[in-house]
Amino acid sequence: MKLLEYQGKALFSRYGIQIPSGKMIDSVEDALSIAREFTQNVVVKAQVYVGGRGKAGGVKLASSSEDVVSAAEEILGMDIRGCEAREILLEEALDIEKEFYLSLIINNRNGNIVLMFSPLGGMDVEEIVRNNPKNLTRWEFDDISVVREYQIRNCLRKSGLQGEILVKVASLARRLCTCFEKEDLTLAEINPLVVTKAGEIVAADAKVEVDDNALFRHKEFINVPVEIFDPYEKRAEEIGISYVHMEGNIGIIASGAGLAMNIMDILDSRGFTAANFLETGGGITAKLISDSVKLLFSNPKVKGVIVNLYGGVNPMIEAARGVVDGLKANTRNIPLVVKLLGNQQEEAWGILEEKRISTVKTVHTEKAVDALLEKMEGRIVE
Ligand code: GDP
Ligand code: MN
Repeated sequence: MKLLEYQGKALFSRYGIQIPSGKMIDSVEDALSIAREFTQNVVVKAQVYVGGRGKAGGVKLASSSEDVVSAAEEILGMDIRGCEAREILLEEALDIEKEFYLSLIINNRNGNIVLMFSPLGGMDVEEIVRNNPKNLTRWEFDDISVVREYQIRNCLRKSGLQGEILVKVASLARRLCTCFEKEDLTLAEINPLVVTKAGEIVAADAKVEVDDNALFRHKEFINVPVEIFDPYEKRAEEIGISYVHMEGNIGIIASGAGLAMNIMDILDSRGFTAANFLETGGGITAKLISDSVKLLFSNPKVKGVIVNLYGGVNPMIEAARGVVDGLKANTRNIPLVVKLLGNQQEEAWGILEEKRISTVKTVHTEKAVDALLEKMEGRIVE
């Protein structure tokens, strides 16, 4: 999960990495009142999940409250490469002497962590490094918890850093390592890492990504869930399935997103549209499937239902029992076809066929779709 710049900076700050003082705003009125609190120049920064804001006009320097207001007016609502700027970070402007680049990232090929540093940071760092890779110093290691500050100094020395600055940047990089480890990050990038005229090292930007699988340990980053208004989607959340309501007539239940989209594509090629997207994911139980089937039957637009399941970890006997139970809610006698394969498929087919439920036993999803459309023939589909 990506964090916005201000969230990343707040995280850095907790690990003793210096950041500029700043405030978040989301309206021009706030810009005016807060701009008055600043006694020096202000940087006005769009908070969006994409990079390259500087070049897109999403970062502006302001030297008066009027400047801050006009910059905020310009930036609020701005489209930065498809991402709307709804919030702005106002920050004390730094007196920049030098801009460095520093990052920690996971090498997906082997799971190692890579520390990267360039003494030529800033908005053009990518091009600078592309033209001359020597401008980037790279060090890869497998255990971040045992990385020592002197090892980081040895690495940074290769880029030409020396003296007090070398010591300060290495110390900051070590703190970034602690942050990376303790906060389960997959990316921590500071560009620019600014050396101010006064000799301080300050993180002027923060690009941070948290491992999605570790989010349960970082509830503070999870955005407040949006309220669900659609009654079907609300019910789906209670059941514990992924569900998106749509406007067509064919209800879909699938054990994976691919299986669901496969049906939607085939329906589309036959001139039909889905009434929903529904993915159970792992953890199928008879109750989950029964609740899902009943949910689809409760939608008056549904004129046919197709169930497409694969049992790798999912027990197909449970799924078959769930379909049988769900059919009790089929008061409108809506045709239903099940394609089911995998774990204990024979027993599952037996349960379905005993109840005379149309069962497709091959991998060809078209067969299931066409069997359903045939059963629906003569029924009014708008
Ligand atoms: P990005 O383009 O999305 O990476 O946004 P950054 O936060 O990196 O800002 C873009 C550029 O604005 C930086 O590379 C700096 O050159 C400049 N910048 C950011 N903060 C300050 C500041 O406090 N003072 C000055 N003078 N320039 C800044
Ligand atoms: Mn940047």
